[in-house]
Amino acid sequence: MTNIIDFNFFQKKALIRVDFNVPLDKTSGLVADDKRIRAALPTIQHVLKGGGSVILMSHFGRPKNGPDESFSLKKIIPCLTNLVGCKVHFAYDCIGEEATFLSNKLQPGEVLLLENVRFYKEETMGDMAFAEKLSFLGDCFVNDAFGTAHRAHASTTQIATFFPQAKMMGFLMRGEIETAEKVMKNGQKPITAIIGGAKVSDKILIVDNLLSSVNDIIIGGGMAYTFYKALGGEIGNSLCENERIEACLLILEKAKKLGVNIHLPSDSIIADEFSANSQTKNCQSDNIPSAWMGLDIGEKARDAFQNIIAKSKTILWNGPMGVFEMEPFSEGTKSIATAVAMATKNGAFSLIGGGDSAAAVKKLGMESQVSYISTGGGALLEYFEGKELPGIKALEN
Ligand code: AMP
Repeated sequence: MTNIIDFNFFQKKALIRVDFNVPLDKTSGLVADDKRIRAALPTIQHVLKGGGSVILMSHFGRPKNGPDESFSLKKIIPCLTNLVGCKVHFAYDCIGEEATFLSNKLQPGEVLLLENVRFYKEETMGDMAFAEKLSFLGDCFVNDAFGTAHRAHASTTQIATFFPQAKMMGFLMRGEIETAEKVMKNGQKPITAIIGGAKVSDKILIVDNLLSSVNDIIIGGGMAYTFYKALGGEIGNSLCENERIEACLLILEKAKKLGVNIHLPSDSIIADEFSANSQTKNCQSDNIPSAWMGLDIGEKARDAFQNIIAKSKTILWNGPMGVFEMEPFSEGTKSIATAVAMATKNGAFSLIGGGDSAAAVKKLGMESQVSYISTGGGALLEYFEGKELPGIKALEN
């Protein structure tokens, strides 16, 4: 794989696959959160400073049947123009005559944005002929869309075939991979993974794969109760996936053999209904009354988890400890965020793996107090499941 730092972009047209799938404000129709566009700026600026020009490809939403105004990337032009600080040309079709004409005309230092690649069903089908048509527009290929690295789509994966000597990761993509590797391959020990969220089925592969590289796994959220049920506990009406009980037992057995400590929340905040206005009390997690459900980790669990986190040198966190969207069940997640921030201050490396844990850290204003917040979502989860990401694999020679 070519290193973006070593590549000479002088008078080259760089086709950059970005993830500009940004949320829009319902009333103004303008970009509501420009984080994803900002995240691509280091790569865009690097090419422009190196004397090249930039052709941006992205998906935007999930258009079903071809071109559709409501999924047009045209809407992001004002925001993109403002952030890159130069005029942005726009091709109303990502392939074909107009795109070719605009690409041919593009001068060093200029930016061309192509219309939504998902207006062609060939994009998600990973169609080689479509990828080739896109490839004609540029001289080299840079993939900076980590959020879609787990998809074998034409503009993320197949297109790389047409640039055997000129395909590389952008800075965002490289940052994400290096950070994930810091946890999986060369993290300083003790390494702790904190896994929460609703379902065991969504996270079991990650827990299983992490057993080979971490020292401690903290399990919180709804998934903890299937583990307690597997151990013979009474979990009342708490979330439980009976078909995963066997898998939980296998994980516990494997962890024991490998010397990995699995920590379940000893107590829980339980509620008599799934509501912010329910009655609540603190209770042992394996002795929950039949009509009640565990919706957050309890006080003892918070203390125990905080102690483990404080001793960790590398931390991965994915998934909330409880139904943090409801105030009465948000304390567990807050306490973990605080502990991770504190450990980071004391020298630990912390990676927050997207989704709800990232939202919780942001809500608490602690974004700058953790080492890295992944933009990855599904891609990061698949990486931690040990799966090969097609978007990354395609960049290898
Ligand atoms: P995930 O997308 O798998 O990370 O799950 C996040 C969701 O899990 C959030 O919406 C939480 O409200 C939910 N969740 C966390 N803990 C529990 C619990 N004990 N019972 C039910 N849902 C939970």
